[in-house]
Amino acid sequence: MTFSPKSLLIVVPCYNEEAVLSETTSRLVALCRSLQDTQAVDRAAVLYVDDGSGDATWNCIEQHATAYPEVGGLKLAHNVGHQQALWAGLEYAARVADAAVSIDADLQDDVEAIVEMVDRWREGADVVFGVRRERRTDTCFKRTTALAFYSLMRRMNGNMVYNHADFRLMSRRALEALMAYPERNLFLRGMVASMGFPTARVYYDRQERFAGESKYPFRKMLAFAIDGITSFSVRPLQYISLLGLVFMAISFFAIVYGVVVWLEGRTIAGWTSLLVSLWFIGGALLLACGIIGEYVGKIYTEVKRRPRYFVEKDLKAKRLEQP
Ligand code: UDP
Ligand code: MG
Repeated sequence: MTFSPKSLLIVVPCYNEEAVLSETTSRLVALCRSLQDTQAVDRAAVLYVDDGSGDATWNCIEQHATAYPEVGGLKLAHNVGHQQALWAGLEYAARVADAAVSIDADLQDDVEAIVEMVDRWREGADVVFGVRRERRTDTCFKRTTALAFYSLMRRMNGNMVYNHADFRLMSRRALEALMAYPERNLFLRGMVASMGFPTARVYYDRQERFAGESKYPFRKMLAFAIDGITSFSVRPLQYISLLGLVFMAISFFAIVYGVVVWLEGRTIAGWTSLLVSLWFIGGALLLACGIIGEYVGKIYTEVKRRPRYFVEKDLKAKRLEQP
């Protein structure tokens, strides 16, 4: 197969990342240059998507864009969250580049792995997943919760790629396919994995954050996990029905037991079991309502069809603008 390498855009969502951007830029620019020197691609550039940062992130991006022709930036008007910010960058990439790599700003993902991703792309893969080899740098807590989440996701929806977050390469064809998904509730790693097309995997070791702190505290992580499941699967709703059936079966035995006890004339003795089951069934009902509510909320945000983001400033990477 003859493949004429063209342009690659590295999309980097940033939220309050002033502490890491200099280092990230020097590493990514060096990578862009070596990709061009080795003729893996004709042109390579970096697109920072400033997700409504409150610090000097945008100033840094402007400075780097002036200093390096490989750097461009998109300033979103307000904070829309990691997934939407990434979407903004990928939508941009689908217009201007032949492939896009998404990577976090904090250098936790191995920049060098992009070289291998490009090789897989040139061999014909439309999606190349960056997969973490192991999680030595994560806390034990993050490791176990992540593992539990991936196995849960697997059960809900078979397409998840283990230990793959949002570090991946997508060809233009895959980007255009992704852009055809109209939903506002984004869980990109699940969407991309379910898309089809030839895929490949590249393994790398995940590092500690280079500087700054995680924008995903436990609360956000949990919300993201719930979002991932409810955006992808209606199985929790089926579990509710199943739970209802189990309770009905139990209540059948409870009725028989109640009648027998009543006939024996010692009804008052059942108080404890009544109290316990009352609380338990009440809790189960509330949980069921909550799960259904989660889906109703999703439908609500979907039907509103609100714009995903607004672009406040657009700094084009000079390298991509050249013919
Ligand atoms: N991020 C973003 N918008 C947000 C939160 C995070 O664009 O509202 C970016 C952040 O700048 C980083 C990436 O998403 O580039 C991943 O965030 P982080 O590294 O804090 O998450 P962690 O690696 O700890 O899960
Ligand atoms: Mg990180």
